[in-house]
Amino acid sequence: MTQRIALIAGNWKMNLSITEAVALVSTLRDELKGTNNPEVLVAPPFTTLTAVREVVKDSPIMLGAQNMHWEDAGAFTGEISGRMLLEVGCTHVILGHSERRLIFHETDEMIDKKVKKAFEVGLTPILCIGETLEQREAGKTFDILRGQLGGCLASFITQGALPKGLILAYEPVWAIGTGKTASPEQAQEAHEFVRGWIEQKFGDEQALGLRILYGGSVKPDNISSLMAQPDIDGALVGGASLKAETFLGIIRHEA
Ligand code: PEP
Repeated sequence: MTQRIALIAGNWKMNLSITEAVALVSTLRDELKGTNNPEVLVAPPFTTLTAVREVVKDSPIMLGAQNMHWEDAGAFTGEISGRMLLEVGCTHVILGHSERRLIFHETDEMIDKKVKKAFEVGLTPILCIGETLEQREAGKTFDILRGQLGGCLASFITQGALPKGLILAYEPVWAIGTGKTASPEQAQEAHEFVRGWIEQKFGDEQALGLRILYGGSVKPDNISSLMAQPDIDGALVGGASLKAETFLGIIRHEA
């Protein structure tokens, strides 16, 4: 069986000053010295990327951004390109987060272009998908996931191949920042569906190697039961990644 290395990623969203970001990531770096399992990634706001990079540069902590544009450069006021992210030391980029979809009206089509560009420039995309409470209650979870996967990976379906390394994050919208976590069984069911979909479109090898993170109110006391599920390969953590103690608790799977 393919061994997938667990990944715990912290999405800091629009939080932390440069001083706070450096303090947080310095603690993480010092506490995690000598360990690299699970893999750990932080996704700070754009303004703190350079300062955070300086702290993590000789450590295993990886640096990601929370969004990017699909063009390399041009008249796109307020946007940041993948090449710019590479220049400041990012290796990963979160794409299609539900906050981007719901607040900033990003569509699957836009996200598909971003995923394609991320791969082209050498960034690893962490593609987020997930249903709302209304969609879950209407029994549409799998339809929504199928639609988002098909839309956000449309270019690769057309090409008939997906580059290696994509990371997916299943983040039920109703569990994000609400304190409500999907039960391990609900999360496993969705992850299994997602892996099955990837297998059907891109083959077994891609499906077996694909890391699927769970996101939605992950905390030190629920991470172990989530990680015990066969198709959960890590977590994308929002609120609990803003404090060293809780993020380390999740990384160490401590309750
Ligand atoms: C997120 O925004 O990706 C997230 C999972 O947030 P939280 O952990 O706060 O629910």
